[in-house]
Amino acid sequence: MLTAVFDECDRYGHVETGGRIVGTYRRGRNLDVTVTGMIDAGPQARRAVTSFFQDGEYQEGVFREIEREHPDIEHLGTWHTHHVNGFPTLSGGDIETYRRTVNHPQHNLDFWYALLVTAKVAGPDRYRVKHYLLRRHDDKVYKIPPKLVRVAEERAIWVPGVTRGRPQAAPASSIESDSASHSRQERRAFDDQVLRQLFPNLRPFFSEAAQCLLWKGSISLLDHSSADVVVVESVSEGKTGYEAMVPRKERERFPVAARAQDETPWLAVRRLELHLNRLVAGLGN
Ligand SMILES: [Zn+2]
Repeated sequence: MLTAVFDECDRYGHVETGGRIVGTYRRGRNLDVTVTGMIDAGPQARRAVTSFFQDGEYQEGVFREIEREHPDIEHLGTWHTHHVNGFPTLSGGDIETYRRTVNHPQHNLDFWYALLVTAKVAGPDRYRVKHYLLRRHDDKVYKIPPKLVRVAEERAIWVPGVTRGRPQAAPASSIESDSASHSRQERRAFDDQVLRQLFPNLRPFFSEAAQCLLWKGSISLLDHSSADVVVVESVSEGKTGYEAMVPRKERERFPVAARAQDETPWLAVRRLELHLNRLVAGLGN
C-alpha cells in the first residue's frame, strides 16, 4: 500500500497529490484500522503546490465497485502530500475539511484516518509520513504514534489501475526485472487508456484472488442495452493475453459461451462486443 502511495509521490514531485484510503477496522478495546488499498485521485483531480482537490465523483464510483466485491471494505480516510511545500503537519484547511467529512451524516464511520507525506528521504524508506485520526463530534486531531503503525508487507487487496494512462503501481511479479516490469506497466497504462476511450465504462482492478489485472464495467450494445463485461489478463507460455467475457449474472441473456480472446484487452472487448451485438440482433453466433 505504501509502495503505491510513494510511487504516486514520485510521479508528482512538484505539486500535491493524494488519494482515498480504503480498508477494514475492528473495534475492541482499541480501534484497529487495516488499510488494504487506495483509490487514485481521479481524472478531474486538481493539483497545485499548496492545494489538492480530488475527483470525488470518480472515487465514489470506484468505491462502489470495490464495495460490490468486498462488502466489508470501508472508506477509511485520505492521504495527500506536503513534502512539495515543506508544510510539516496538516494545514488548517485540511483539518477543516476532515472535520466536515467525519461529522457528515453520509460518512459511514465515526472516525477519519489521514496519512500525510511530509518529506522525501534518501534510502529505502523513500518518504516520511505522519498518521492522524479525527473522531466524530470531537475537535481534537490525534496524531498516531509511529509505534502503533505497522506497515504490512502483504500486497493490498485492491490497488488502483491507471488514470489517464499514467502508469500506476500495478503489482508486478517479483521475478520480473525492473525494466521488464516497467515496460509491462507502460503497456498496461497504454492498454488502459485505449480501453477507456473505446469503452468508457470499464475500470481496471487488481484481483488478489486471481493475482491478475482485470477490467470490469459495462459496454453498450446495438439495441441500446448494456452488458456487464469482465476482462482478465492471462499469461500462458510467458505471453500475456486477454480474455473478455460476460459475468455469470448475464448468462441468462447470453446463454452461449460469450467470451473472446486477443492480444490486448481492447481487442478482446471489441471481439466480444461484435459477438454480443450479433446475439442481440438475432443473428445467432
Ligand atoms: Zn494539506
